[in-house]
Amino acid sequence: SERLLGAFRKTSERLGGNLAGVVGTARLDDATLDEVEDALILSDLGPAAAGRIRRRLSDKRFGLSMTERELKEAVAEEIAAILRPVAKPLEVTAFPRPQVVLVIGVNGSGKTTTIAKLAHLFQEEDYGVLLAAGDTFRAAAIGQLGVWADRIGVPLVRGPEGGDPASVVFDAVKRATDTGIDALIVDTAGRLQNKRELMDELAKIRRVLGRLNPAAPHDVVLVLDATNGQNALNQIDVFREVAGVTGLIMTKLDGTARGGVLVAAAEQYGLPIHAIGVGETLDDLRPFDPDLVARVIA
Ligand code: GDP
Repeated sequence: SERLLGAFRKTSERLGGNLAGVVGTARLDDATLDEVEDALILSDLGPAAAGRIRRRLSDKRFGLSMTERELKEAVAEEIAAILRPVAKPLEVTAFPRPQVVLVIGVNGSGKTTTIAKLAHLFQEEDYGVLLAAGDTFRAAAIGQLGVWADRIGVPLVRGPEGGDPASVVFDAVKRATDTGIDALIVDTAGRLQNKRELMDELAKIRRVLGRLNPAAPHDVVLVLDATNGQNALNQIDVFREVAGVTGLIMTKLDGTARGGVLVAAAEQYGLPIHAIGVGETLDDLRPFDPDLVARVIA
């Protein structure tokens, strides 16, 4: 909780600062509600969540006087109400095994690091994990995943640079099945510059997976960099079209003032949020605790 407080400090300062500017007129009237709504939008919560929070505050408290502290608490409660329905840890439940987790996202979003963190988390839960280097386009990506795999002691299936990602995935599923792996985590390319090509590549991976196990991929997890703010939300639209998305992991929430984008994503897309990234080390993938996050940021 202390760590999380530290990680969300800038987001909290922004929202807190914006809300602090609102009080003055003691009563919650239309003008004050306008200011609350603006403060929320300025804090990256997006127009939809800001509008909802405004309506809920108005329904519950219109005409009542509120201190700054009461206003923040009321906003935190409404943020928590938006976040609660989407908080959903990634669980290994697939039968038959392995559970196949496809991880997608643009280069630089923190995809590789998140895969390592996730593998580490599964290991701590005593699951057998296998990684697949499905981004064969970037030699650096394969190399970096290899470094993480060695560090945490999980096997990695990799192909030649420039090879066919679907064939890497094919080999990985075979190996996972043969060796009784619980969770197979697949890295994928993140070249959004060439959407058509990426779409074809991810579609082929999905086809191959589906042929080996009709339920696979069980999860398609989109990794988003919170520092991108509204742009991160646009990526949800694009990746839903390109690959389908079953859940989100938001990274780099530490040190950004744009953590409000979590609330915007929850309100606008309703996709499960599996976890949040609050730093560069293995232990920095945290469960997404909606009440804690709401209390910390508002
Ligand atoms: P990829 O290109 O999407 O695979 O991104 P990487 O996993 O290589 O991450 C890009 C950079 O972001 C690296 O320097 C990571 O250490 C860093 N990074 C990843 N997740 C987080 C996070 O939650 N917080 C912070 N501060 N940095 C992160």
